[in-house]
Amino acid sequence: MDDSSILSGPVGQSGKGSHIPRGGVRRATPGAGDREDGASVGGSLGIYAKTDSAHLTVDQRTGEITAGLPVDPRLSRCERFALKSVVNRLLPTSRTSKCMRWRVPNQSLQVLKSKEHNKAFYTGLQVCASVWACPVCAAKISERRRAELNTALALAKAREWDVFMLTLTVPHGLGDDLPALLKQIHAAWRSTTTSRAGQKLRKLLGIRGTIRALEVTHGQNGFHPHLHVLLFLDQGFSPQSVHHAFSPLWQQACERAGLPRPSDEHGCRVDDGTYAAAYASKWGLESELTKSHSKKGHNGSRTPWDFLRAVLDKSEGWEQSAILFRSYADAFKGKRQLYWSNGLRDLLAMGEQASDDEIAAVQEDKALMLADLTDEQWRAILRTKSESIVLDMAETHPEALSVLLASILERAKKLAIGSG
Ligand SMILES: [Zn+2]
Repeated sequence: MDDSSILSGPVGQSGKGSHIPRGGVRRATPGAGDREDGASVGGSLGIYAKTDSAHLTVDQRTGEITAGLPVDPRLSRCERFALKSVVNRLLPTSRTSKCMRWRVPNQSLQVLKSKEHNKAFYTGLQVCASVWACPVCAAKISERRRAELNTALALAKAREWDVFMLTLTVPHGLGDDLPALLKQIHAAWRSTTTSRAGQKLRKLLGIRGTIRALEVTHGQNGFHPHLHVLLFLDQGFSPQSVHHAFSPLWQQACERAGLPRPSDEHGCRVDDGTYAAAYASKWGLESELTKSHSKKGHNGSRTPWDFLRAVLDKSEGWEQSAILFRSYADAFKGKRQLYWSNGLRDLLAMGEQASDDEIAAVQEDKALMLADLTDEQWRAILRTKSESIVLDMAETHPEALSVLLASILERAKKLAIGSG
């Protein structure tokens, strides 16, 4: 299968980077299959970098990483833009493909730097606010949501409530239709909240509220959508008793939704407050992982970002990963990622929740303008895939930004000559 049959999007922007972001980051060697004209999608990492691996703790059932995440903000940003460039081609007509590339009409495109956090960013670009498909927006949105989760946990603790984590899975197989499976899981969850038995149980256990997260991994049995639910409880029950009570409720709910009945040992798990806190603190950080980490462990299970990494890397089976990412993005489009039960925010005095769009559009007020970019400069930055390097330079050596921009223009011109 050749590239074009899978990746129908526009090609281009595959410049071989000559800039190394900073010390300790080595440039990946372009693959043998690379083409100068930029038609290769998965092969060239160009300026995007790799890191060494680290020790990770992986949840054996969901395949998620629960501890040991390497967090290097600058490196992560570099990879996010790299993964984003894959999405641009996999989903060429989506809002995400325009995100961080297309200008907002009648607005200047600038490089700004937050005075408070020394963090550089662009202003004047369209943003898609997709938590599912956009590595750039997902990171920004989950950073905010993660902070909120941690606040909620702290406030619950101050009230001497328990916060347990309920993980709900359903039996699934390779041939399952993902959109149908998502609908059924949602219906099953709804019935645990609306059925008479469910409401009775909530009262009995003292469930004051829940925060439900929809997540998905992909393994030997295909897509594995599942729910993590933070339970806010005030009656002092143990995780074991909560499990004992919730497990049959989930089994019934699944059957009612037309799903196979989960077994006693699978289907429902309840973890204590420590686990819930660890979950909240790593929320959304999957997108921060670098490729070399995601290849290892995971119990053979992958996240949607891993599909993008496989395409970027052209690693074995990358064509399949491209197809999987598309069907995943299609199925999850518009789905709520994180849902706070009604009234919980009020109980915790946390105020209104901002929407994904609002969070994605937020910019820091106290920011310094470092560069006002022309159309030509921006096109050159895109063409040479220098989005993250420009920001790195703005953070570390703002005085050299103009020199960097000039060299990017030069490189873009050479690339244009090379491919034309
Ligand atoms: Zn986006």
